[in-house]
Amino acid sequence: MPGGNTRTVLHVPPFPLTIVRGEGAHIWDADGHVYLDFLGEYTAGVYGHSHPVIVGAIRAALEDGIVLGGPNRYELALAEAICDRIPSIELVRFCNSGTEANLMAVSLARAVTGRSKLVVFEGGYHGGVFQFAHGGSPLNAPFPFTVGAYNDGASAELVEEDTAAVLVEPLQGSGGVIPGERAFLHALRDATRARGALLIFDEVMTSRLSRGGLQEVLGITPDLTTLGKYVGGGLAFGAFGGRHDLLARFDPSQPDAYQHAGTFNNAVLTMAAGVAGLTQVLTADEIGRLNGLGDRLRDRLNAAGGDFYATGYGSMVGLHFEHDEPAQLALLHLHMLEEGFSYARRGFIALSVPITEADVDGFAAAVERALS
Ligand code: PMP
Repeated sequence: MPGGNTRTVLHVPPFPLTIVRGEGAHIWDADGHVYLDFLGEYTAGVYGHSHPVIVGAIRAALEDGIVLGGPNRYELALAEAICDRIPSIELVRFCNSGTEANLMAVSLARAVTGRSKLVVFEGGYHGGVFQFAHGGSPLNAPFPFTVGAYNDGASAELVEEDTAAVLVEPLQGSGGVIPGERAFLHALRDATRARGALLIFDEVMTSRLSRGGLQEVLGITPDLTTLGKYVGGGLAFGAFGGRHDLLARFDPSQPDAYQHAGTFNNAVLTMAAGVAGLTQVLTADEIGRLNGLGDRLRDRLNAAGGDFYATGYGSMVGLHFEHDEPAQLALLHLHMLEEGFSYARRGFIALSVPITEADVDGFAAAVERALS
């Protein structure tokens, strides 16, 4: 592997820690150090490590075989659980990653509208071929993108008569855990509706922030929504869904149906783990508890003062220094590792089910020590 790495975000100097085990809220590195896991696998690990309900569902499914080559008994239940929760999702299709979900959603939008252009936002991240921070990536998918300013209502004017879709995170995750402002997101809804473009909410990270995703909190119904991360119970997962008339284009019984392939779209273990997680673990009450912990952490961190502050919503927290100085973030990260807390060096935190109030208070106290 180039640089010993196959996932860029995990590469931090002088070297990343190899994690060999996880249990509950804890992870162990290859040298035997133990850490409280505040990264939560960038939101995919919301259930923590080896949650008994998830492990039980995977074990039970495993017994009956995992490469069955047909519709299986779990995918309908997962689809129903998702449609029941996310207001905009009337029909849903599964894939294998958030990147793939966004590729399918924007491709669907372009096909149904007959238009080519996409509006996205500075700092947005929608997958390995959809990176819009710091001028974008040469590896981005070759769509005609217009990049607007996030949380700037004037960006709605970028939606034109030849715009196929606006792709937006209702809270920018990788871009610093920055909540989208209501007025900005409503302006995008209004502009897309007025000009015949589709609004796509990338809720790959944010769907965990309420039972119906951030769209429910905001009271905005996008035309399409993409999902990923924890929805597969911690296994590789992606999904895109939305308006009935749009998704119905994939109904194979229709003569002009769009095709959407994918060997592992209905992977047995993923479907089984996903159903168990959504229906048995991530209830509205549990989401509320996790969000409360995030609020508690943010409040404490923001009381620390100086040029340090925390952003986010509920159980997703971003750590910042004014000007987001990378050296300061790196020093804080190394200090926190020494104190036994793991999170992403860029200041990204996603809380998970086994984390307690005492864990959150311990994290905040360690940050206070680092700052002082
Ligand atoms: N959209 C958002 C908002 C994400 O945060 C991510 C992953 N960090 C993706 C899409 C891509 O998901 P995946 O890594 O599963 O391809």
